[in-house]
Amino acid sequence: MHEYSIVQALMSQVETEARKHGAVSVDRIELKIGELSGIEVDLLRTAFEVFRDRSICARAELEIEVVPAEWSCPTCRELLEAGARLQCPDCKQPARLLSGDEIVLQRIEMEAA
Ligand SMILES: [Zn+2]
Repeated sequence: MHEYSIVQALMSQVETEARKHGAVSVDRIELKIGELSGIEVDLLRTAFEVFRDRSICARAELEIEVVPAEWSCPTCRELLEAGARLQCPDCKQPARLLSGDEIVLQRIEMEAA
């Protein structure tokens, strides 16, 4: 499953960070997930529950913020509404996706040894 490999990648990223800071455990992880990233938040949470056992994240809280998709015109930078035609009404340029497909490890709170 897609979400499982994402969680595995995420955990190794968190572990690397924790080791770098000499942390013994992770309290909280904050993620930003774009609504167009193709990630099922529920599945991601389930995968996290499965993988965090016996990891540095065993007691970590997982906070997920879903980021709405935003489109803009590549020429005049005008924000374009999703759902509308994805083309700038002035420049006739196809809209460019500004945000909404990202998966960002926003913040890790950890406990030092
Ligand atoms: Zn434009």
